Amino acid sequence: MKVLDLRCAHDHRFEGWFASEEEAQSQIARDLVQCPVCGDHAVTRLPSAPRLNLSGATAPKGAAKPAQQAATAAAPATLQALYMKAVKQVLAQTEDVGERFAEEARRMHYDEAPERGIRGSASPEEVQALAEEGIETFPLIVPDALKQTAH
Ligand SMILES: [Zn+2]
Repeated sequence: MKVLDLRCAHDHRFEGWFASEEEAQSQIARDLVQCPVCGDHAVTRLPSAPRLNLSGATAPKGAAKPAQQAATAAAPATLQALYMKAVKQVLAQTEDVGERFAEEARRMHYDEAPERGIRGSASPEEVQALAEEGIETFPLIVPDALKQTAH
């Protein structure tokens, strides 16, 4: 991997990553290298000296970094983490009533049991019947990784 400091005709400086020195020269010569800021193909190589300029406070950094790729790759994992967190919270704040879910939900609704968060299993028919009685439920899909802690 060859990392070169490059500059376009508008004086944008950026890094170009190439497989080899020959590849770099070939791509620059054939105008295959593009400025990430303005899209200019008139790219020239800078001497690698700026890399050694440790005081370089004005050196633009990160302009050519593939940040977008990292962001899209991270998104699904982040969403999953958020979902896991939300489910954990529900599990922590609800009482597991198992098969008696519909029965307990109904008792709470008719003030026969203290109002609280419950979770459990219910058939689609039970959920439908609860909805008709004005009792709101929502499906909770517990990831396998959390199932051990569900009881
Ligand atoms: Zn440019």
